[in-house]
Amino acid sequence: MELFYSSTRGSSETVTASQAILQGLAADGGLYMPTEIPTLNLDISKLSKMSYQETAYEVMKLFLTDFTEEELKDCIAHAYDSKFDTPEIAPLVDADGAFYLELFHGSTIAFKDMALSILPYLMTTAAKKNHVKNEIVILTATSGDTGKAALAGFADVPGTKIIVFYPKNGVSPIQEKQMVTQKGKNTFVVGIHGNFDQAQTGVKKMFADPELNAALNEAGYQFSSANSINIGRLVPQIVYYVYAYAKLYENGVIEKDEKINVTVPTGNFGNILAAYLAKNMGLPIDKLICASNENKVLYDFFTTGVYDKNRKFILTSSPSMDILISSNLERLIYRIGGNDAEKNAAFMQALNGEGRYEITAGMREQLTDFYGNYADEQETAAAIRTLYDKTGYVIDTHTAVASSVYSKYREATGDQKKTVIASTASPFKFPRSVMNAIDEKYNSLNDFDLVDELSSLANVPVPQAVEELRSAEIVHRTECEIEEMPEVVRRFLGNA
Ligand SMILES: *Cc1c(COP(=O)(O)O)cnc(C)c1O
Repeated sequence: MELFYSSTRGSSETVTASQAILQGLAADGGLYMPTEIPTLNLDISKLSKMSYQETAYEVMKLFLTDFTEEELKDCIAHAYDSKFDTPEIAPLVDADGAFYLELFHGSTIAFKDMALSILPYLMTTAAKKNHVKNEIVILTATSGDTGKAALAGFADVPGTKIIVFYPKNGVSPIQEKQMVTQKGKNTFVVGIHGNFDQAQTGVKKMFADPELNAALNEAGYQFSSANSINIGRLVPQIVYYVYAYAKLYENGVIEKDEKINVTVPTGNFGNILAAYLAKNMGLPIDKLICASNENKVLYDFFTTGVYDKNRKFILTSSPSMDILISSNLERLIYRIGGNDAEKNAAFMQALNGEGRYEITAGMREQLTDFYGNYADEQETAAAIRTLYDKTGYVIDTHTAVASSVYSKYREATGDQKKTVIASTASPFKFPRSVMNAIDEKYNSLNDFDLVDELSSLANVPVPQAVEELRSAEIVHRTECEIEEMPEVVRRFLGNA
């Protein structure tokens, strides 16, 4: 059966999966959603014997129906290979009554690798399928993590180039080093003299600039986006929930059809939306526990039905969740509103204008699958310390937010169902916050000494991605003013 995609904001027009991947965002500003959610008709005993790659094929083929078996298997084989430091790709760790699904074994040691390892292959395959002759130029603005994961994913992928803009003084030293040492002839990294919002606005302007786009087309290029609203990022994220469930069954932790809970540390709502889609495909998931940091706009939404971004933006120790506009929530709003694009567009217009909207009582009734809560900075640090003291297992700050919220959930409800916690970054990515949470005495050490201390304390070798950084050569030195961004892009593309 062929599956089509339509925009959450209107126009009855549908596109194929490959067209949705190529376009990223729909022309009316909406996000693409499948016109129906496919069913996972697979026997658990079969599923539990499958490798990550085999599971990926079974799940993704249901969504990307215009890809041939050979194409999809080829994309999967290129993505989930030895870039990951374990053949399991996403291992489960049992610690203190929960199952941590480690999504950080890819090349940049954060969960964005799970989707950004495969997106470049999905995109180049989609380009071929749709007879796109131009080379694809990925433009990305980053506050740190996405940029590196996108660079690593697209590096040396034929038929693509990637240009990443980051705020020169707005990312951590490790994050900056990760980006400016990126190898690959098709990669370009620019530090801008401005903040993340300015970088993001600059990129959006270039996407919408007809003159620039025409000049690029003339020179054989076209822009595309690796942003988390692309369904080419969403679909690969469904895979690991199915895989985790199958592994729990295989290991005798759960019976056939036994329901589990899933806890996800949430920012842009992409990861937890993937879990929601897995549930709607028929995977036996009960509660979707949505964990926020002090930027708790989603907690407030789940408890009141009001989404309100009019509040102070708080910098926390879990920076990848410091977000006030969770873009992917739009897909949930659209669905609980009865796939009513007009209604959804009105909510999004209100968000754009007044910065808030309130959903209807009928829509709220459909949110019973979700439980939302948040952890403040002290609770996040305490979650790292407590888990380490009890078990010796060390988690990063984002995962700690989820761990803390899961404890609150269990206390509030007494629910004893087996629970998977999405572990979204390696603790080696945030060594200072993690080590300080365990003991303040580490505060005087530099980042690389902290990494060594963490390695011996957690009894885990330093990941290759961090090890390489110690001696990596800086290859990207371009800086620019905000207004110069289009000029820099043209220069990179041979004065297009
Ligand atoms: C991006 C990110 C998140 C948030 O994921 P969303 O899909 O945006 O909700 C959580 N943790 C880490 C480490 C991340 O990089």
